[in-house]
Amino acid sequence: MKGKLFIVSGPSGSGKSTVTQIVRDILNIPLAISVTTRAMRNGEVDGKDYYFISKEEFENKINNDELFEYANVHGNYYGTLNSEIEKRLESGQNVILEIDVQGGVIAKGKRPDSTLVFFKAPSLEVLEQRLRGRNTDSEEVIQKRLKNAIGELKFEERYDHVIINYDIDKSVQELIDIIEK
Ligand code: 5GP
Repeated sequence: MKGKLFIVSGPSGSGKSTVTQIVRDILNIPLAISVTTRAMRNGEVDGKDYYFISKEEFENKINNDELFEYANVHGNYYGTLNSEIEKRLESGQNVILEIDVQGGVIAKGKRPDSTLVFFKAPSLEVLEQRLRGRNTDSEEVIQKRLKNAIGELKFEERYDHVIINYDIDKSVQELIDIIEK
């Protein structure tokens, strides 16, 4: 039996990364490592968090048809390698991709049997509190993320499931239920 592809998207600060990571650990689903042209952040490891490559290398991958989907997010390219997902799906393993909404729509177009899960905070006010609570970003970055969030929320209706992240444990259970159904 073939594995299933799950795509998780949602605004920065919605809690999607935390919840997806916990679910991956519980269900033993390995991370599909994306390629990106953005600069490596402190503490990130090449080949673990992302494959960090140049714009030229990225464009070569586009031309060689190596990418399942890709998008330009906040001025940088991000993409999923076919090589990270195809073998796993063929061998019956489930795959969870945590990608932006543009990539989610492309993925669904290519694989209509994939399941799209949209994550969001209970309200924009809560999202703003969470972004501020991280204490890591400048006011400019927070404002940019809030503006992006409003754009991303327009994609919600194109997703199969919406998880409103009131509480991490509850959202973890909701995502597990979607995967195991
Ligand atoms: P960050 O730079 O914070 O790691 O990620 C920024 C955004 O890029 C997030 O919304 C993340 O989900 C998205 N992203 C990460 N990897 C991919 C990918 O392979 N494809 C697409 N389309 N988006 C990605």
